[in-house]
Amino acid sequence: MSFPAFLAALSGGDLPADAVREERCLREPIGCGQALTAAGTGRMFLSPDETAAYQDEWRITGLCPDCQDRIDGGDGRG
Ligand SMILES: [Zn+2]
Repeated sequence: MSFPAFLAALSGGDLPADAVREERCLREPIGCGQALTAAGTGRMFLSPDETAAYQDEWRITGLCPDCQDRIDGGDGRG
């Protein structure tokens, strides 16, 4: 099972692809379900590279930066 499919199963069938298409985070309990804007996530990043890294992750997992950090242990990236 792929990681996105694993997340989808945990989240009751809410697929990362659905979250990305609707520009939001996966629904709870995996994500927070908050809307994301096309320009980003509403969060301040240290650099364009960091922004791109989080957006790439979001397109794969459907998780916003806050949720990515939460699942990763909150130690950030880059
Ligand atoms: Zn989230």
